[in-house]
Amino acid sequence: MMYKRSFWLVRRRVSTSLRGSGDAFVPIESRPTEWNDWMADARRVAENALQTGDVPVGALVVGPLGERLAEGWNTRERDADPCGHAEIQALRAAAQRLGSWRLEGCTVVVTLEPCAMCAGAMVLARIKRCVYGASDPKGGFLGSLGNLGEDARLNHRFLVVGGIEAEACAAQLRAFFRSLRRASKAARG
Ligand SMILES: [Zn+2]
Repeated sequence: MMYKRSFWLVRRRVSTSLRGSGDAFVPIESRPTEWNDWMADARRVAENALQTGDVPVGALVVGPLGERLAEGWNTRERDADPCGHAEIQALRAAAQRLGSWRLEGCTVVVTLEPCAMCAGAMVLARIKRCVYGASDPKGGFLGSLGNLGEDARLNHRFLVVGGIEAEACAAQLRAFFRSLRRASKAARG
């Protein structure tokens, strides 16, 4: 009985925050411009990945008061690490900085829609919101192939705001893959 009641309280608090915040599903055109600034910042962070031949994906963790807590970029090639995604790096750095794995009230800003691993890590970190740029129809799990952020079966849910500066974020990725193709063509002669 106690379990049931506390579960209901959690559910209620989450659904109230989803309904009350009012900023989750507003059309992109009328979004506050602050997310655009954070997204431009995340794209600059993504540039770090280029030095090691990694796909340029960048992420930030923004604290409850709008403070920039941490950044991360894709280091899969650099570290030979299948889990070296930008969001994981940023979540770890933010948790280290706060001295807690709970990132309540925090927002993750990332240039590409998170995969299932990263969306799952955001559930575990209890974040408040994820703001992403370009959609990933082949791997994204915050809207494209599923939505781990808004799955009522999980014990935590968070707000998902997709499509912020989507074109600029997609262009950054396209430029990277274009340069890869050029390099391999040149290598072949
Ligand atoms: Zn990921």
